[in-house]
Amino acid sequence: MSVSTHPGTETLLRYAAGTLPAGPRLLVDVHLDGCPECRAAVRRFTAVGGALLDASEPLALAPDALDRVLARLDGPPARRNPGLLHHAEAAGAMPQKRHPLPEGLKLPPGVVLPPAIASRRIGRMVPVSPGVRLGLVHLEEDPDAQVLLFRIAPGRAIPQHTHAGLEFTHVICGGFSDPNGHYGPGDLVECDADIDHSPRVDDDGECICLAAFDGRIRFRGLLGMVTRPFL
Ligand SMILES: [Zn+2]
Repeated sequence: MSVSTHPGTETLLRYAAGTLPAGPRLLVDVHLDGCPECRAAVRRFTAVGGALLDASEPLALAPDALDRVLARLDGPPARRNPGLLHHAEAAGAMPQKRHPLPEGLKLPPGVVLPPAIASRRIGRMVPVSPGVRLGLVHLEEDPDAQVLLFRIAPGRAIPQHTHAGLEFTHVICGGFSDPNGHYGPGDLVECDADIDHSPRVDDDGECICLAAFDGRIRFRGLLGMVTRPFL
């Protein structure tokens, strides 16, 4: 698998800092599994962040600092930096379970879902337009996150839609094109909110891909009405 399209630097910085929302973070996790180049970049950003913290001037302690630390020890565990968590997973520290494939999803021979996705519960793959099915990937850490698994027939387009923030698309198998280029397995494509687009799948095979959003997604026309309760 040769990856040619990578997450932007700002996305990798947000990932390393733990500020990327859960949906896009999951797609970056999937991309990092197949991309040593981006794994090295995240390691660099994490190291720089740590060095900056170490170099910062110690602040005078507030009078209630001890009480606040003790209260925190009694409270729920602090959220760990997902960038660091990823490295622990990569080292095999956290074996992941695999759910059965969702109803309506068939994978071509030799293709498996990335472990970060196979370990999640995925809803039934619902037909949403001719040749297009989508299933919702459930994220326990953020039940409102919109992560969609698409299965699109050869030559078909992802239905026209708009979204409020950045859209992230990760190709699992097959490929698609948009006005900016062609994308294949392992590629992670970022797309701005101001583009109302409908990428088209290659003619020689179906495309299975993931999509996640910084904001909310809305489909247009009748499909928008059909998917509103679902999304
Ligand atoms: Zn990469």
